[in-house]
Amino acid sequence: MKPFADNEIAEIRSHFPALHQKVYGKPFVYLDNAATTQKPQAVIDRLVAYYSLENSNIHRGVHYLSQQATQAYEDARQTVADFINASAANQIIFTKGTTESVNLLAGSLRQFYLLEGDAVLITGMEHHSNLVPWQQVCKQNQAELLVAALNDKGETDLDHFAELLDKKPKLAAITHISNALGSVNPVKEMIRMAHEKGVPVLVDGAQAVAHTSIDVQELDCDFFVFSGHKMFGPMGIGVLYAKAFWLQKMPPWQFGGEMVDQVSFEETTFNQLPFKFEAGTPNVAGVLGLKTAIDFLKQYDMEVIAKHENQLMQQALEKLLTIPGMRLIGEAENRAGVISFVVDGTHPSDIGTLVDKMGVAVRTGHHCAQPVMTRFDVPGTVRASFALYNSLADVEGLFQAVKKAVMMLR
Ligand code: PMP
Repeated sequence: MKPFADNEIAEIRSHFPALHQKVYGKPFVYLDNAATTQKPQAVIDRLVAYYSLENSNIHRGVHYLSQQATQAYEDARQTVADFINASAANQIIFTKGTTESVNLLAGSLRQFYLLEGDAVLITGMEHHSNLVPWQQVCKQNQAELLVAALNDKGETDLDHFAELLDKKPKLAAITHISNALGSVNPVKEMIRMAHEKGVPVLVDGAQAVAHTSIDVQELDCDFFVFSGHKMFGPMGIGVLYAKAFWLQKMPPWQFGGEMVDQVSFEETTFNQLPFKFEAGTPNVAGVLGLKTAIDFLKQYDMEVIAKHENQLMQQALEKLLTIPGMRLIGEAENRAGVISFVVDGTHPSDIGTLVDKMGVAVRTGHHCAQPVMTRFDVPGTVRASFALYNSLADVEGLFQAVKKAVMMLR
């Protein structure tokens, strides 16, 4: 399977207005996709259309607009379920993003499942969003947080992961792809290992959904979370997928309208799935925009996207490694379109500030993964991250800008 040809990239880029602007008078090179992706015109148009003509609250209204919006919202749930191959749409809970999805899960499990003396297992490469909620639950409930170590390449040490599974944690919460290192965890294998010991698994798919196809039934994960804005959708919308068994057992996390069935001053019964977990007025526009983003993404073959991003990453690596003092942080055998680096004698944030003035958007800092920075003994890194619309010209732009910045700083 071949990566995208130049004319295909030009066609893809034509859908993204943000990519065609100039920044400081320079062509815009956007390589901060791990933080958030740009939006295709179709997604922007969907939000405008909803607020222009379709705006109404859902599920409760008898009027035309409310019924239309309810139908569109529930259709979108089915689109999301199909996208990750969930067996039923009511296993898809809409949240405001990966962070809220993890908090929902932690907030629910802590009430009945993660109790005193229990343990939660994570890996050493987790984003703060899949670390702090578990750490806090463990603190509140006198449970233990177990952390599978990383090797020097930035891969999870699977022997250590297996050793920690022997301690019988009640949950393993693992990222699919590290936002700080680009390392791809062998999640299918890790889920198999965990299930062998009877341990359910949450996969943080925030960095995976726009770069690799996801089949939650094939992975057999118990929970899967992701954010719309990292896959060309709007901000403020995300997903928690869970196996039906868990959703039925889990108590609600937030209370209010929509998630209830019968309410009196004495008693409340809760709504059926998935509404039990969607208290209050949801982000209808966000859900519709997410559906449009998925429809956009489905036009392309995920394997081709992955190949394209991988090729750009390899080309960027070859060029960047010619810069004296260049040091990669994270050299996993299996990695997705993220390059994290430091350059001896310079500070990452100085490089980021200088390349920005040359029109190149990268991320600098700890990337919400401070323990990863501690593991590799760096204050932070410069991170370039790729998406399907990036081109060889972006790679060249990155290389020239970093080379110039390093020369200016030395
Ligand atoms: N997990 C990973 C791996 C991420 O990259 C991110 C976002 N950088 C998150 C979780 C949190 O996502 P959000 O901020 O959209 O909730």
